[in-house]
Amino acid sequence: MPLLKGTSHINDRGVLTIGGVAADRLAERFGTPLFVYDEALIRERVRTFHRVLQAEGVDYDVAYACKAFCIRAMVELAQEEGLSLDVVSGGELYTAFISGFPPERIHFHGNNKSVEELELALQAGVGTIIVDNFVELERLAALIREGTCSRQGQPVNVLLRMTPGVHADTHAYISTGQEDSKFGFDLGSGQVAEAIRRVQEIPELRLTGLHMHIGSQIFSAAGYLAAVERLLGALPSLPQFSFDVLNLGGGFGIAHTEAEDAPPIETLLLDIVRGVKARFADAGYALPALWFEPGRSIVGEAGWTLYRVGSIKDLPGVRRYVAVDGGMSDNIRPALYGARYTALLANRAREAATETVTVAGKLCESGDVLIEAADLPPVRPGDLIAVPATGAYAFAMSSNYNRLPRPAVVFVRNGKARLVVRRETYADVVRFDRSLSADDEGSEDEASDDVGAFLKGEWG
Ligand SMILES: *Cc1c(COP(=O)(O)O)cnc(C)c1O
Repeated sequence: MPLLKGTSHINDRGVLTIGGVAADRLAERFGTPLFVYDEALIRERVRTFHRVLQAEGVDYDVAYACKAFCIRAMVELAQEEGLSLDVVSGGELYTAFISGFPPERIHFHGNNKSVEELELALQAGVGTIIVDNFVELERLAALIREGTCSRQGQPVNVLLRMTPGVHADTHAYISTGQEDSKFGFDLGSGQVAEAIRRVQEIPELRLTGLHMHIGSQIFSAAGYLAAVERLLGALPSLPQFSFDVLNLGGGFGIAHTEAEDAPPIETLLLDIVRGVKARFADAGYALPALWFEPGRSIVGEAGWTLYRVGSIKDLPGVRRYVAVDGGMSDNIRPALYGARYTALLANRAREAATETVTVAGKLCESGDVLIEAADLPPVRPGDLIAVPATGAYAFAMSSNYNRLPRPAVVFVRNGKARLVVRRETYADVVRFDRSLSADDEGSEDEASDDVGAFLKGEWG
């Protein structure tokens, strides 16, 4: 069972055990569906990035792309492990602030940052803003002219996000380096050059370098290196700027099934770093600091989803549907990208697989299928199904479709389970609804209070 990564194993009762806690105990104590994270494995993944980059002797930074799994406990862990933090919205910024994450180690991304979000970032003293487009540049310049800046006299660090014009070998929905992308300044058509000129006209902004993120779930260094070659080829035609940072983005792939052959982080990272070093040396340029932004590769393999089996439907000669108590509301990836997963019968994990079943969710969509063909021992109602490698972009993309409460999240380590997100209740699900018979018209005051309070310095 190659997907038993980190501390996960099958115990002597034949039960899947993660972080020293058996899956059946977790399900009894916290209910299902349940997200379970192997905390030691998350930390090990982070340390691998540090270890490899330190050994290569490069100036570097690793920022956790928290959109993969953005909760307070994970942001705190990222801080403990010496990571910077990538955020892509006011809500992620807010999560960082309430977690006490140092603002100077926050990098702010996004292709449509609102004026309010930019204001929030400037007020908080966010370390780097990755500028995505010309409208954003105007918004930033206007805010700074109006005096919205907490670091009096200190310029704001910006990187320019460029699309180098390479196609990452991955699903179209998660490929972001091609010219025709909603993200970034296009290198080939001269937008990067123009953006550099414009930033340099704004004295309150300090351009520290360039950013690229060519996609996600990538298994080889080739795309990264092709992008760097494009950039180096274009450098002589760009205005002079101090190129202190080259941010290479995230995108390191993981295995979601036994069939996927993802290279270890060490291998991909070394291939990229050595390749980049060599290309800069060949082109005669000093190597800038190399920044990385892993999301999936930090949390993906550490996360499991535990489901309880309910109904089973047999279509003789066609298939057997095994329905679990969650589905596309806690993992939209199969429906969204055709993502593939495998499953383990967590409570009888040593029994031989004798049947191939379709693991379906409980939501009212025929497309709510988690796994088309899962090889499992004979499954009975009440069994526990565990889906590995669901730590990234599953809980983060979860919804209340069909008014299902979102699952709880636990971190397990050394035989202890800690609840880090409590399960939603029905009351949570309806908490923003207002009755037609409410006598006022309602207002948005409550929602905007968060930001108002922040701007007054409550979390500054
Ligand atoms: C999503 C994203 C990442 C993280 O991607 P992973 O594939 O999860 O590593 C990094 N940088 C940017 C700009 C992103 O949008």
